[in-house]
Amino acid sequence: MSYSTTLLAGVLGSDSLIQRRAMSKAITLLESTRADHRAQADELLTALLPHTGKSFRLGISGVPGVGKSTFIEALGLYLIGQGHRVAVLTIDPSSTVSGGSILGDKTRMEHLSVHEKAYIRPSPSSGTLGGVAEKTREAMLVCEAAGYDVVIVETVGVGQSEIAVAGMTDMFVLMQLPNAGDDLQAIKKGVMEIADLVVINKADIDKNAATRAEAQITSSLRLLSQHGNPENAHHDETLWHPKVVQISALLGQGVDSFWVAVTQFRQLQTANGRLATRREKQALAWMWERIDAGLKLAFRQHPQVRELLPQMQADVAAGRIAASTAARNLLLAHTHQAQAAIK
Ligand code: GDP
Repeated sequence: MSYSTTLLAGVLGSDSLIQRRAMSKAITLLESTRADHRAQADELLTALLPHTGKSFRLGISGVPGVGKSTFIEALGLYLIGQGHRVAVLTIDPSSTVSGGSILGDKTRMEHLSVHEKAYIRPSPSSGTLGGVAEKTREAMLVCEAAGYDVVIVETVGVGQSEIAVAGMTDMFVLMQLPNAGDDLQAIKKGVMEIADLVVINKADIDKNAATRAEAQITSSLRLLSQHGNPENAHHDETLWHPKVVQISALLGQGVDSFWVAVTQFRQLQTANGRLATRREKQALAWMWERIDAGLKLAFRQHPQVRELLPQMQADVAAGRIAASTAARNLLLAHTHQAQAAIK
């Protein structure tokens, strides 16, 4: 039996300990950049695919300290109580920049992490954001094949990582603090407009502030949906209009009404066909993103390009040659060689 077949059997198996070990090994294999591993990883992915797609994919983001891990722990335990199995994956954008970690260096989700119906996997520790996002998407497929029916993908706010998470999940949730002005940051970064649901956490600290924030964010969401998307008109009951809920993750308050909103979203998006279209678009966007990345890598590794590149870069930087001319020259060098190879 090949390594990927053994892993597949483990991931699909019913022994929870063996399964979790197989999941971790499978994800490690998928994260590997070695060419021979990648071949096995692709074999594994293809075999896993028929067993995927049945979970609900929930993206959650917010600034450090907003209460993400407190909330995900409360939500995860609540969902397990309702009979679900919950996987939590993380995209830590700091690891792609510095190799460090905003999310990973403290004990997070103490109770959830040891629960046999939960599976928690930290962010891949290095790579570009696109690369990390790809690994997370693949890890999500492993969790789904293993029967985790709620997959949470968590990230911390730097704009781009939220867009990556929204691009791989069925629903994107933004967590906010009850401070006025906090929502302006989210609007500036373009994150508010991709939120399907906004959660105001720490409502226990100041109920009035939380209620004010709720009103403000509700009206911001209304404006954003009118601007960005005229078809999202308020009177259309078949479409989802982003909502705001107040919670206290620390006291476990509002977790149930949060889940009611998620369920409403899921039902509506299933009935109006948007859940399926969103996934189709995501899969195609993912394919093109990887094609772009693959082409760029092949381009950079191309002998002729490698030879020309340092000089071209220096010439562009010094203003001796126009950026577009340099790009054209490099692309030509690349295609000429490729054509010669075909002949
Ligand atoms: P993360 O960085 O977004 O994962 O935030 P954490 O979950 O680690 O929470 C940051 C701090 O806020 C911790 O000290 C939590 O105990 C606290 N916290 C989280 N949620 C709440 C809440 O609903 N109310 C209050 N009062 N504190 C909270």
